[in-house]
Amino acid sequence: MDRLLEPQNDLIKDDAMTFDGNTRLDIGAKYEKDFRRTVLIVDDEPVNLRILGNILKEEYDIVFAQGGAEALTIIKEQKDFLSLVLLDLYMHDGNGYFVLDGMRDDDSLKNIPVIVITAAKTEEVESLRRGAVDFLGKPYDSPEVIKARVKRAIELSIDRNIIVETGVDSLTGLMTKEFFFQYAREYDKFHPDQQVDAVVLNFCKFHLVNELYGRTMGDNLIRVIAMTAREVARSCGGVACRYNADCFYMYIEHQEDYSLLKDMLVQRISDILSPLDARIRIGVYPDLYRSANLEQRFDRATAASNTISKNIHSPHIAVYDNQMHEKELYEARLLGDMDKALEEHQFMVVFQPKYDITTDTPRLCSAEVLIRWKHPEFGFVRPDSFMPLFEENGRIKELDRYVWREAAKQLKRWKDLYGTAVPISVNVSRVDIYDPDLVDYLKQIIAENNISASELHLEITETAYTDSVTQIKGVVEGLRNEGFMVEMDDFGKGYSSLNMLTSLPIDALKLDMAFITDIAENNKEMSMVEFVLEIARFLGVPVIAEGVESASQYLLLKKAGCDIIQGYYFSKPVSATEFGHLIEKSRMAAR
Ligand code: C2E
Ligand code: CA
Ligand code: CA
Repeated sequence: MDRLLEPQNDLIKDDAMTFDGNTRLDIGAKYEKDFRRTVLIVDDEPVNLRILGNILKEEYDIVFAQGGAEALTIIKEQKDFLSLVLLDLYMHDGNGYFVLDGMRDDDSLKNIPVIVITAAKTEEVESLRRGAVDFLGKPYDSPEVIKARVKRAIELSIDRNIIVETGVDSLTGLMTKEFFFQYAREYDKFHPDQQVDAVVLNFCKFHLVNELYGRTMGDNLIRVIAMTAREVARSCGGVACRYNADCFYMYIEHQEDYSLLKDMLVQRISDILSPLDARIRIGVYPDLYRSANLEQRFDRATAASNTISKNIHSPHIAVYDNQMHEKELYEARLLGDMDKALEEHQFMVVFQPKYDITTDTPRLCSAEVLIRWKHPEFGFVRPDSFMPLFEENGRIKELDRYVWREAAKQLKRWKDLYGTAVPISVNVSRVDIYDPDLVDYLKQIIAENNISASELHLEITETAYTDSVTQIKGVVEGLRNEGFMVEMDDFGKGYSSLNMLTSLPIDALKLDMAFITDIAENNKEMSMVEFVLEIARFLGVPVIAEGVESASQYLLLKKAGCDIIQGYYFSKPVSATEFGHLIEKSRMAAR
């Protein structure tokens, strides 16, 4: 007889090997301690349970059952945790086939692998036919053989589940994002003490590759990047997936030093990308304490990668740090405070004058309405720190509407007060463009305040135009038909083509501040401005330059034929009262 069949005294005493009575797993406790895979051993002979249990206990958590019915109950209860069943075919309360059949008939159980234990060679084929994946003979093989077969059966079943349950991304052969998350979750479950990093790879200007070189070239590049991501993830003990068009996620073991990861990725991928003017950005979120859920970890890695500017000289990798965490908390706070702020009128509007410079003396011709938040704790919060946030979270529509209403009410007050006013412009966010009620809402506001559509100009950012040309064209046409004037804001920030510009319905081009900052007589920046002015002349629309801060900028723009100017040179944004005084002054001057 095999020496191993002899129960040894020290094994019988071992607490962990008690199999009668309490054989159920404490699932809560299982999450807390180091998660090992669990194997259920089913045999009606205590001695057999003990032997197999002792062979496997070092590597697995063991659960026991002494009969078929009990085994099925345990399997059902603990199906999420069982990695394998070792099943004796002959037991006094019914044979193992009962268990095999019960598992095969239940979709949630049939993927748990079963190894049958039998002394009868003849039963092997039948048990395989009924769903067993392997068998062990009695008397037992050597412990090493048993361990190897158990390990292999578990690994095979994991691989099979991967193939069955996932799609593989058809373009790259990487995991789909759904499976990636499922895999990562499993990984976490089984390796609760492993420190992990969430890594996000994305690219600046990748869309240009498709536009300039065609889809096939874009697809080929994505494949090469995917291969690199997979290799790098593997060498860091992890996996990679394509999250969306040109964004990849990697879930890897925590790296003490990211220079290796960066060097591998940047060197290989930059070689492919550099002739194309596209750049890789890597964001990392190290989760050493498992304090965030999976989605949050990747959001944070994305936030880190977003801090890398698109500038060619900026670094390629950013690791989520305390500062970013503070920012996240701050933003969560702002988001949470928004309702109360609206209720308590903490938001207010200011007006930045625009001057017509086509005549000898500049003439007040309009004002841009800008929002301000007087936060009870943080003081004045700049729109740059909350508008993009509210846009991301879908709340900007409410705020924009609030601003439009306030602006219209104020315009009416001025008209009542001075008998006249100048048109004012409000900002219309990208999301508003997709609001089917946009035109009706604006019409309602002007009707309620007894002002005309031509007095309310709408600034729509250029990037909204590049998002969806057809959508915006329809919306802008609808607005203009009602008499609203539409200004294309931040012109030069996006990628409007000349072709697109000529087909777009707009009433004014508003030059982005970045164009103005460095202009000087005959320099490159000034030539750009002159070029844009020519385009505008060709389109027959006036140009508004914003962010004009100095007399020299003003003079250069005037000389080049710019029509309207907004900027600190003339005035910072001012309160409604102050702007009222400007209206009054300009009315007096016109007399
Ligand atoms: P924007 O629409 O491009 O507005 C112009 C920004 O430039 C304003 O910043 C204005 O104060 C600033 N500015 C004007 N002249 C100068 C200058 O000479 N020098 C410098 N350095 N800056 C100048 P603000 O008020 O902080 O607004 C920032 C952005 O927030 C706006 O950019 C706009 O995108 C957004 N925003 C502000 N109010 C609203 C709003 O009511 N609705 C929406 N959707 N967005 C708004
Ligand atoms: Ca604007
Ligand atoms: Ca602007």
